[in-house]
Parts: sequence; structure tokens; C-alpha cells
Amino acid sequence: MKQIDRRQIGIKWKMFAILIMFVALIGLTIWIFQIQMLNYFYQHAKFDELDDISNTIIANIAEPDVLEEKVVYYGENHYMDIWVFSVQGNSLNEMVRVNGSADAFMPFLTKRMPVFYEKALKNEGRYIAMISRDHYNSSLELRVFKDNMGSSDAYPIINNRVGNVNAIFVKIHNTENDQYVIVQKADFTPVQAIVNTLKNQFITTGIALILFALLFSTIMSKFITNPIIKMNEAAKKLARGEYDTDFSGSGYREINELSDTLNYAATELSKNDRLQKDLISNISHDLRTPLTMIKGYSEVMRDIPGENTPENVQVIIDETARLTSLVNDMLDLSKIQSGARIPEFREFCFTDMVRETLTRYEKLILQDGYKIEFVADGDVNVMADSGMILQVVYNLINNAINYTGEDKHVLVKQSIYQGRVRLSVTDTGEGIPEDAIPYIWDRYYKVDKVHRRATVGTGLGLSIVKSILETHNASYGVESTIDKGSTFWFELNVFDSAGLDY
Ligand code: ADP
Repeated sequence: MKQIDRRQIGIKWKMFAILIMFVALIGLTIWIFQIQMLNYFYQHAKFDELDDISNTIIANIAEPDVLEEKVVYYGENHYMDIWVFSVQGNSLNEMVRVNGSADAFMPFLTKRMPVFYEKALKNEGRYIAMISRDHYNSSLELRVFKDNMGSSDAYPIINNRVGNVNAIFVKIHNTENDQYVIVQKADFTPVQAIVNTLKNQFITTGIALILFALLFSTIMSKFITNPIIKMNEAAKKLARGEYDTDFSGSGYREINELSDTLNYAATELSKNDRLQKDLISNISHDLRTPLTMIKGYSEVMRDIPGENTPENVQVIIDETARLTSLVNDMLDLSKIQSGARIPEFREFCFTDMVRETLTRYEKLILQDGYKIEFVADGDVNVMADSGMILQVVYNLINNAINYTGEDKHVLVKQSIYQGRVRLSVTDTGEGIPEDAIPYIWDRYYKVDKVHRRATVGTGLGLSIVKSILETHNASYGVESTIDKGSTFWFELNVFDSAGLDY
């Protein structure tokens, strides 16, 4: 038996490795998108939102009623402060103002509007800043964390401080005659605090996921390997020759299929084993019987004066002939079945061959009153091993003679049909029971378990017939009715060198 390499990695650890890789991949994705880039995504989304709102305000700037309605709506729903000014000369005239954030920061910022306007003017009409009111400074100075951010600017991580950080978003809108300024102030959630929490959580989640992976791979590998281990044990038993081993696969389809296959193999192996045992007992029985006869008769002839008669010698000769044919049949069969005897395909006249075979029975017809009738619908050529086909015909006719009824009648019929020639051999014997038909082609199978030595051959005839016809890819079969008789038949392709169709 092949030695199993114990160092080979088991399914559990393989699965664990795969799961860990999977966990690592998910972890990396989370790390990149949730932790590293959360700031970026958040600020980007926030600035986009501010930009969208300012665009809507600009779109309604000419209609004071709608403008006010919009500004109030956005301010209150987005919790932001919004100012809208029209520019007259150097001064800013307030059109609308809403304190959506509801903090006290608004008056403080309103004073700084001219500064924001200046900044936006210098920056192509757009100004973004991150600001905070410095609570520790009694003068309530405005703290600017990042001044004048362009959209391609890296967003500063400024939210790691606790307390409010705000974005100031200024946009200048020019029409043909007028200039307007829209200023928004929006709260910025301290994302960095969330990021920090996520980072801490990430480690805990990672450890938990690794433990889960370990648990999961242990359970899964048990689930997968248990039936395999069981099956392996059963297969070992089978290898030791315990053919009644049952492979009861359970769990999943692949294992069920494997167990079905192994069960099938076990049944086939046990059949083979039984067949082999039968074969040996049959062969030894068949060989022993003529040998016993030969020994017995020879001893009688040696020991008892006057027993040296031609009849007794004939018995010895008959038994020897019987042994010879048995051994020949056995050799034939094993040669064909092992592939040692390869058919030599040659063209020959099939009908002539059957006729010739029948001449061998002339003596039998004359002496024992057998009637063997041959009906043929024309002469036909086939491409086959003539020696082998002769053996088939010979075996079928022999059987028919052996098993035919009282009237001693056998009909051999050749018929050509759609490019094929069929030879059927019909007897009027006792027939074959339907349940025995599939087995008669097996070696040593006899319907009648009691040996009918006087009439019956070696018990190998039909298996030789079957093996030969199968090497010729020919179809064959039997139809039989109890007490009426049997018809054995086979079919070969008609060979026509002129290419004519029959
Ligand atoms: P055997 O030497 O016993 O005839 P075969 O292999 O030729 O061996 O046949 C196998 C069995 O099939 C026979 O023992 C017999 O029971 C049955 N059988 C074969 N041919 C016939 C037939 N023409 N009529 C009835 N039974 C037959």
C-alpha cells in the first residue's frame, strides 16, 4: 500500500488558510475604504452637497419669494447657516439669511463676510475654508484650519479635535449687471473620532474573525472529512475482501455519488469473487468426472481378466475426447476474453460456411434420426473471422441438437435484411425460463443444475458464442417459449465488394 505522507496539509488547515486569506482581504478593503479614506469620502460628499445647494440658490436668485423659501428650506433641513448678498459697489447687501444650525456663531461670522468675499474674489469666485470658533480665546477669534481649499486639495484631517469644526463655502455669482454672493456654513462631524473608534474596533473584529475562521474551518472540515474517513475505513475492509461492506455516504451529493460508486464496485467485486469460486468448483468437477471414469475403467481393465473389451476402451476414448474438448473450450474462451485471440477479418461466403458445418451432422442425422433443416434466402458474403463464426454456428447447432424435443427437429434459417444477415437456430425443446435467459451466456451457467452429461456439452459454449460475437460487434439474442423451444440468433453486416445494397 502506498505510504501516506503525514506531513501533507489536512483539509482543516487548508480551509483555515483560505478563510484567513479571505478575512485578510476583507480587512484590507475595510481598512482602505472605511478607515483610510473615510475622511476623504466624507469631506468630498459634504463639499458636493454645499456646491449643489449653492447652485440651486443661484438658479432662483432673481425671484425673491422663491429664493427665501429655498434658503430657509435648505438651511433648516441641512442644519446650516446661509447668507445671500447682492454686491453694490463695495458693500454687501443682505438679501436673505437663515440660521439653520441654530448656534450663536452667526453674528460673529456675519461680521467677517467682507473678508470671505475678498478671498472668493481672489480665487475665481470660490472660497472654501475649515474654521472653528476658538472657545478658549476670550476674544472669540476665528480659527482657520485650512484656508482656501481647492477641489483638488488634499482634505486636511482636522477633525481629530473634539468640538465643532465648520466648513465655510463661498460662491460668487455674476449676471450681466449684478453680482451675488452665497455663503454657507455647515457643521463637520468629527470623522477622525469615528475613524479612531473604527481602528480600535478593527483589531477586535480582526481577532474575532480569525477565531471564527478557525472554528468554522474545524466544523466544516469535520463535516466534509467525516464521511470521507468513514468511507476510507469501509474501502480498507473491501480491500481485505469483505465484500458485504456498506458505503453509506451521507452529507452531500459528491459523497453520496462516491458511496454509490463504491457500493456498485463492491457488488461487482463480490459477483466476480463468487463467479471465480463457482468457476473453480465447476472446472474441477468437470475435469474430475472424466478423469475418474478413465481411471476407473483403466483399473478394471488392468485388474479384471476379460474386461479389456473394445467397449471399455471406447469409454476411455470418449472420456478423453470429452476432456480434450473441455480443455480446448476453456483455452478458447480465455484466449478470446483476454484479447489474446484477435479476430482475423476476411471476406468469405457465410451461407457456404453454414452449409459446410451442417455436413458434419450427416452421421447424426442418419444414425439418430435427427432432422436438421436449412433455409437460406440467397448466398451472402460477410467480413469476419471465418473460424470464429464457424465456432458460433457450430455451438448453436450443437445446443439445439442437445436440447431439441422428441421430434429431433432443428431449423437453421438465414435471412438477409437491410444490409444484415441473420442466422437463427430453432429447436423444439423445453425452452428456457425467462429469468434464466440473461444468465445462459455466463460461463458454466446451466439452467438445469443437475448435470445432464449424456447430452450436454462443456457449459462454455454460449460464453464462447457471446465473446466471439462481441469481438465482431454483432448483435445476438434468444427467444424462447417454455415447452415450445428456443431460437438463438445473431446478425452480421453483409459484405459486398461491389458496394451493392441488399
Ligand atoms: P452447455 O454445454 O451446458 O450447453 P452452453 O453455454 O452452451 O452450455 O449453454 C448454457 C445453458 O443454456 C445450458 O446449460 C442450457 O441450460 C441453456 N441452453 C443453451 N441452449 C439451449 C437450447 N437450445 N435450449 C434450451 N436451453 C439451452
